[in-house]
Amino acid sequence: MTRTYPREVDVVIVGSGPTGAAYARILSERAPHATIAMFEVGPTVSDPPGSHVKNIVDADARASAQSASQGPDAGTATVSSPGAVRAGDRRGRPGTFLLPAGYRVDGEDGLPVAAFSSNVGGMGAHWTAACPRPGGLERVDFLDDLDELLAEGDRLLGVTTTAFDGSSFGELVRSRLSAVVDEDRTPEQRVQRMPLAVHRRDDGALVWSGSDVVFGDVTRANENFSLFDETLVTGILVEDGRAVGVSVQDRRDGSRSEVRSAFVVVAGDALRTPQLLWASGIRPAALGRTLNDQHQVVYAARLRDVAPSAPAAGGGALSEQAGVSWVPYTDDLPFHGQVMQLDASPIPVADDDPVVPGSIVGIGLFCAKDVQWDDRIEFDESERDWYGMPAMTLHYSLTDVDRDRLEAARGFIQELAVAVGEPLGDRPFSLPYGSSLHYQGTTRMGAEDDGRSVCSRDSEVWAVPGLFVAGNGVIPTPTACNPTVTSVAFAVRGARAIAERLTASA
Ligand SMILES: Cc1cc2nc3c(=O)[nH]c(=O)nc-3n(C[C@H](O)[C@H](O)[C@H](O)COP(=O)(O)OP(=O)(O)OC[C@H]3O[C@@H](n4cnc5c(N)ncnc54)[C@H](O)[C@@H]3O)c2cc1C
Repeated sequence: MTRTYPREVDVVIVGSGPTGAAYARILSERAPHATIAMFEVGPTVSDPPGSHVKNIVDADARASAQSASQGPDAGTATVSSPGAVRAGDRRGRPGTFLLPAGYRVDGEDGLPVAAFSSNVGGMGAHWTAACPRPGGLERVDFLDDLDELLAEGDRLLGVTTTAFDGSSFGELVRSRLSAVVDEDRTPEQRVQRMPLAVHRRDDGALVWSGSDVVFGDVTRANENFSLFDETLVTGILVEDGRAVGVSVQDRRDGSRSEVRSAFVVVAGDALRTPQLLWASGIRPAALGRTLNDQHQVVYAARLRDVAPSAPAAGGGALSEQAGVSWVPYTDDLPFHGQVMQLDASPIPVADDDPVVPGSIVGIGLFCAKDVQWDDRIEFDESERDWYGMPAMTLHYSLTDVDRDRLEAARGFIQELAVAVGEPLGDRPFSLPYGSSLHYQGTTRMGAEDDGRSVCSRDSEVWAVPGLFVAGNGVIPTPTACNPTVTSVAFAVRGARAIAERLTASA
C-alpha cells in the first residue's frame, strides 16, 4: 500500500540516528506546535523504535535486527566480538555494511572498511555508547557554549559513569593505568570511568541508549511528530536560494512524493549527508572535504593475579567484570584510550585456558588525524549506489604526522598493557582504516563563511538558509575521542535555533 506522507510540515529531518533524534527531541520540548516529519531509509528493527539492539535479549532476534540494518549486506558475514578485524580484513561489524567500491584510490591509503547502518536509530542502535568529552585541541574554540551543549548531549543520550560500578576488576584496571598515566595531568585528563550512554534497570540489567532514549517520551507523545521508515530522501528542494522541502521515495513500493517544509535537517551520517546535498546541487567548496577518521591501535593484556568473581548483576549480552575505563586525550598524547573487557573489544581471545572471566582486557587507542583538505569524498553524476544515490569515491591518505602518531600510539599502548598486566602477543596491531566508524569533517562547521566550512555555528548551511546539517561530519576539529556526544551537542544548538525561529513566527 502506498503510504501517505504529509504534503507540508514545519521541519523535515533526514535520518533517525542520535543526531536526527536530538533535533526531534529539542523541537518537541521547545516548539511543541511545530509539525515534524522524520524520514529514515532503513527499516524499524527494534522496539521502541531506535532502541539499541544490544537490549534485545533473544540472540536470534538480536542477530536478525542487526542483519536488517545492513542494507545491501543484510545476511552477509560480519565481524562479531570477540574477533579480529586485522589490516586486510574487509568485513563490517554487526549492524553495519561496507562501502562496496570507491573506498580506496590507487596510490592512497583509503578507508577500506568505511561503513554505514541503515535502520531506525542508525549506528546508534549498534554503538558502544562511549561518550567522552573532547579536550584541548579537540574542542571547537569558537563555540562559547560548548560545555553547556555537551551537558545537554549527556542529558539526551542518558550518559552515566556508574553503569559498571559493580564490575570486579574495573577499579584495579584504573589504578594500574593511573600509576603510569596521571602524573602531570589535570583532573579531567586523568584515567577515569568512561562516560557511557548506558544505565542499569532496577532489576540490574544494562540498558544501552539508542535514538529511543534521545527521542524520549516527549517526542513519542508529540502528536505533531511522525517517523517514516523505509523512506529514502532523494533530494532537497531549494527555491530562491532557500530550502523548502524534500523529495522522497517510498522504498516499499518505489512511489515518489514531495514534502514541503520551512526547515530541512540532514542527519544522514558523515558520508551520506554530503551525498544528499551534492545530489541536490548544493555543492559548497568544503562539501565532502577534510574527511577524517580516527586510526586505531589495539592490544590486550591479561590480569594474571585476580581470582574468579561472579559477573556483575544483570548478566546480558556482555560480561562485565572489567567495566569500561577511559584514558583521556591530551594535546601532547593525542590518543583517546578505551579500555574494556575483551568480549566488548575486537581482539582475538588468548588460547591458554583457563582464563578467569573478565581478566583479559582490551585496550584501544584512537588517534587524532592530521586533517587534509584533499582527503575528500567525490560523487559521480552517472554511477549510482545501491539506493540509487550518486556513488562515492573516497580520497584518503595518512601523512607523515599520522604515521609518526601511529608509531607513538604503539609505544604508548605497550606501556598501558604492561601496566595493566601481562600483554598478550608480542605487539599491538592496527585496525584497517575506517574501523573507528567515526568519520568526520565532511560538512564542517566554521566561525565564518570563508569557503573552508559548510555550515555556521548553528549548523545551518552557509549557502542555503533553512538547511541544517547534523552528525559527525559537522565536527571541524581532529578529534580522537568518540564523537557522538559532540555531534548531539551541536544538534542541540541547531534545533534551538530552529525552535526560536518557529516560535517567533508562530
Ligand atoms: C559498532 C559501533 C560502535 C560505535 N561506538 C561508538 C562509541 O562508543 N561512541 C561514539 O561516540 N560513537 C560510536 N559509534 C558511532 C556512532 O554510532 C555514531 O557517531 C552515531 O550513530 C552518529 O549519529 P548520526 O545520527 O549522525 O548518524 P547515524 O547514526 O549513522 O544515522 C544516520 C541515519 O540516516 C539514514 N540516512 C542516510 N541517508 C539517508 C537518506 N538520504 N534518506 C533517509 N535516511 C537516510 C541512515 O540510514 C541512518 O540510519 C559506533 C558505531 C558503531 C556501528
